[in-house]
Amino acid sequence: MSLLTIERKVLERNDAIAEKNRETLHKHGVFCVNIVSSPGSGKTTLIERTLEGVKNLIRIAVIEGDVQTDLDARRIAAYGVPTVQIVTNGGCHLEAHLIADALNGISLADADLLLIENVGNLVCPASYDLGEEIKVVVLSVTEGDDKPLKYPAMFRNAAVLVVNKIDLLPYLRCSIDTLVANALGINPRLKVFRLSSATSEGVEAWTSWLVESVARHRKEPSA
Ligand code: MG
Ligand code: ZN
Repeated sequence: MSLLTIERKVLERNDAIAEKNRETLHKHGVFCVNIVSSPGSGKTTLIERTLEGVKNLIRIAVIEGDVQTDLDARRIAAYGVPTVQIVTNGGCHLEAHLIADALNGISLADADLLLIENVGNLVCPASYDLGEEIKVVVLSVTEGDDKPLKYPAMFRNAAVLVVNKIDLLPYLRCSIDTLVANALGINPRLKVFRLSSATSEGVEAWTSWLVESVARHRKEPSA
């Protein structure tokens, strides 16, 4: 018996549930974004700025994954959008069956966009399909420009890279151009946004793209 075999079975079971989640989301025309990053890169703050920018343009629901607390879910729910909390009780990533349960608590007919904030972890969330349309990886410049090289799977599996906290660049040794070049070296198709959720610089390009993506998704013939 090998650990590799067990791992593969777990992932196969996960992928089957993820495919059902994707069908459910497609049926309701919901564009689903799985937001992944290491802890502290600013996922929750990015979601807050996103809600401020577009919650009057499109209908948004949020699933908040957290290891232990509902602190982030409380921040998001304060914006008046449907929010479902998943506490993993130590689990270091979200899995498709957790999302399947959470979807039961969301009125999908009343949503255009579902944002999933994954558990802060640059490793295993890369391997777990949740049924999303795209993964968005958030990397803050405080983490260093070498991170795409160290955690390539996350960047390979993502469609979008949000480089966050650019307001801090003057105080850091991080080269944002090196960071982006490293990420594009792994995945040349990555769509890249450079922004600061703290100052809102660059946030509008991201929210405009998101609204366009939701509209494009709605026009696609449902699978
Ligand atoms: Mg958070
Ligand atoms: Zn994990």
